[in-house]
Amino acid sequence: MKKDKVRVRFAPSPSGFLHIGNARTALYNKLFAQKNGGSFILRIEDTDVERSSKEAEQIIMEDLKWLKIDWDEGPDIGGNFGPYRQSERISIYKDMAQKLLEDKKAYFCFCTPLELEEMKKEQIKKKQPPRYNGRCLSLTKAEIEKFLAEGRKPAIRFHVQKGVVEFTDLIRGKLKFDTSSFGDFVIIKSDGMPSYNFAVVVDDAMMKITHVIRGEDHISNTPRQILLYKALNFTSPLFAHHSITIGKDNRPLSKREKNMISIRYLREKGYLAEAIIHYIAMLGWLKQGNISLSWDELVENFSLEKVSIRRAMFDEEQLKRVNHKIILEKDPEELAKLISPFIGEELCNEKGSKWIKEAAELLKDNIITLEDARAFGEIFKKGEISLSDEAAEILENDKVRTYLRRVASLWRLSLPKVTPKEALESVKEIGEELNIHGKNLYMPIRAALTGKLEGPELYKIITLMDNKTIISRLFNASGTGS
Ligand code: GLU
Repeated sequence: MKKDKVRVRFAPSPSGFLHIGNARTALYNKLFAQKNGGSFILRIEDTDVERSSKEAEQIIMEDLKWLKIDWDEGPDIGGNFGPYRQSERISIYKDMAQKLLEDKKAYFCFCTPLELEEMKKEQIKKKQPPRYNGRCLSLTKAEIEKFLAEGRKPAIRFHVQKGVVEFTDLIRGKLKFDTSSFGDFVIIKSDGMPSYNFAVVVDDAMMKITHVIRGEDHISNTPRQILLYKALNFTSPLFAHHSITIGKDNRPLSKREKNMISIRYLREKGYLAEAIIHYIAMLGWLKQGNISLSWDELVENFSLEKVSIRRAMFDEEQLKRVNHKIILEKDPEELAKLISPFIGEELCNEKGSKWIKEAAELLKDNIITLEDARAFGEIFKKGEISLSDEAAEILENDKVRTYLRRVASLWRLSLPKVTPKEALESVKEIGEELNIHGKNLYMPIRAALTGKLEGPELYKIITLMDNKTIISRLFNASGTGS
């Protein structure tokens, strides 16, 4: 028998930012598609009108592209199985629900939210599991027509038959569910919108999805979905549920805010797309420390069997380590390109590309995320610098000021001729005379030049700073104009 071409999808609801957990699902799908010569589809699940927004959809698509998880079919590029936005497929769901109504596999439900609430309370009181009790299943045709004529808006419920649903999860093995654990469930809500379970089945079937790879939070939906595939005479895809990603608080990651787990935040903070990809690969299956794999090697390396079922904890410190390692492997040209947006247009124009490359090379040990380059960039901007409280305190001292004035006078003459390391060596003699030693020789110079007490090694700063600025900052800090 000819095997179907692999088709997988990533189906985000545009109700918030793409986060590390979602990106992990998207990555697995993309790698699986590529490994099997298949297609990766992006579908936007925006039927929850209140929570969905175009802005969130836009950000999700931008962030996926930035991660280089791009798609073969999707709302922006189309494809043979569109539309790829659920809000544009409402009539398809209605037609499918109509078919189920005609086949008596679904029925109108006129129960109001209040009645459903009462039903639930009653069941809880009787210590029964709360689920729909099938009240509207027995409505006669005449009753239904009467309600409709009164203008009441029904939901459509799927009628669940007693039995067991079994499937083999490609990550977790055989799973079994008793259908009595869920009652007849809504497939079309009273406002005409499909429920998640219904829309997802109709779409996955019509888009010819062969493998559904998603988070374990959807496992309990899968038996419902399998029943719908059967009822609609569709072949059900294969399923794989990977573990969810949790935060340090042990709670599932939430996408509501642009917090420290959203791709947008991480991107703005200066994490590299490659670092995020390798990090999330490590959360699931890749061996720790294996950061030098190319995309093609990641594809080659990936298999669902290797994906762990253990909950994955997002730890920004680990991501930092991966980011830094990848930065260290970059050549200056590439790193210069990466840091440029962080140090800003003004400084880039002022200093030119040769300087940025030199800065990238010299400072790369000190750059954990590209955001660090922004702080370093500030040091090299023209004009005076602002002092941190600690730096100001050091520069308060008269002896320190005398020392800095002497260093400034010495360097005014020597700096054009000696290397930065030689210049730093040469201050020892002044220190000797003034009884200043060890780190006290260098802290005041650092404070005067950078305004801070910490940062990249001093010789790097001297290498990258023009002599005029060095001398004038030293004189300024000594209380004498240059
Ligand atoms: N829209 C669902 C979500 O964002 C996708 C569920 C699925 O993959 O079936 O969780």
